[in-house]
Amino acid sequence: MISGDVDRFATELNRDGVDIIHTVERGDDFNHGLYTAAIESLYETLQPTGLVMPHTIDGRDYAPAVASKLDIPLVTDAIELDAEDGLSVTRKMFGSKVETVIDVDDDQWAVTLRSGEWPVTRGDGTAEVRSHEFDIDSEALGTQAREFVDVEPGEIEITDADVLVSVGRGIESEEHIGMIRDLAETIDATVAASRPVVDNGWLPKSRQVGQSGKVVTPDVYIAVGISGAVQHTTGMKDADTVVAINDDPTAPIFDIADYGITDDLFDVVPALTEEFAGWIATARM
Ligand SMILES: Cc1cc2nc3c(=O)[nH]c(=O)nc-3n(C[C@H](O)[C@H](O)[C@H](O)COP(=O)(O)OP(=O)(O)OC[C@H]3O[C@@H](n4cnc5c(N)ncnc54)[C@H](O)[C@@H]3O)c2cc1C
Repeated sequence: MISGDVDRFATELNRDGVDIIHTVERGDDFNHGLYTAAIESLYETLQPTGLVMPHTIDGRDYAPAVASKLDIPLVTDAIELDAEDGLSVTRKMFGSKVETVIDVDDDQWAVTLRSGEWPVTRGDGTAEVRSHEFDIDSEALGTQAREFVDVEPGEIEITDADVLVSVGRGIESEEHIGMIRDLAETIDATVAASRPVVDNGWLPKSRQVGQSGKVVTPDVYIAVGISGAVQHTTGMKDADTVVAINDDPTAPIFDIADYGITDDLFDVVPALTEEFAGWIATARM
C-alpha cells in the first residue's frame, strides 16, 4: 500500500487471511511515476508470483506501466481469479455480454481487479506490517501533481458518476435538452444519453451509454424517454436503481426499472425538478 497515512490503512487492511502488509509511506496524491517506481521496486524486492492491482482510475493508469517495466503479462478488469494451479482469470467483454476465461502460463503475472466483485473480509487479522523505503528521486519522476480541481457534477465522466439522468429520443429535439440539464443540476447528477441523441448531435459521444457507448454502473440511473433497446440496456443494466420515465407502458425499459413513471416526460421532468428543488431547499434550511 502506498499512502501518506499508511498506519490508518494498514489497520483497515489487517483482516482475517492477510499475512503481511507491505507499506510505502509517500504523499497521498496519486503520481504515475512514483507509484510505478515504488511498485516496481517492491516487486523486485519481494519477487511475488502474482501482482494484483485495483481496476480503478489510478490502477488503470499505473498497472500497464508496471507490467511493461517488469515484463510480465497483465490481465485487466478481472471479476474472478483462480491462482491455485497456474493463473485463470475471468473477465467480461462486449458490454458484459460475454464472460471469457484467460489462462496465463507464465510463472509471474499481474492482474487488475474490478472493484465490488468480492465481499469485504471481516474480522481483526494478525498480519505483520512491513514498511519499505525507496530512494525515489521525485524530480526525476517526469510528472508532478500541482493541484486538484473539483469537477462540476454535470461534467463528471459518465462512468464515474453516482447519479445519471439519461435522455433518449423521446426528448424530440436539442432545444429540450436544457430541461434534462436542469433536473441533473438540481440533484447533482450527470447527463448521459442513448444513441439517437448522440447521432443527432444533441449531446457528445462521450455521453453515450450502451453497446457502442459506455458501460455505466451508477447508484441511480434515471432513463428519460428511452425505450430500453438491448443495445442500450447492456450499458446500464447493472445500475443499482433504475428509474424510467416513458409514456409507453409497454416500453422494455420498464422490465428492468425499479421505479417507473408512465407519463409524458415534458410534464414529469419539470415537475420532478421543481419537487427535488423544494426538498433540497427545505433540507438546507
Ligand atoms: C450495432 C448497434 C449498436 C448500438 N449501440 C447503441 C448504444 O450504444 N446505445 C444506445 O442507446 N443505442 C444503441 N443502439 C441503438 C438501439 O438499438 C436503439 O435504437 C436505441 O437505444 C433507441 O434509443 P431511444 O430509446 O432513445 O429511442 P427510441 O427507441 O425511439 O425510444 C424513445 C422512447 O421515448 C418514449 N417517448 C417518446 N415521447 C415521449 C414523451 N413525450 N414522454 C415520455 N416518453 C416518450 C417512447 O415511448 C420510446 O419508448 C445500437 C444499435 C445497433 C444496431
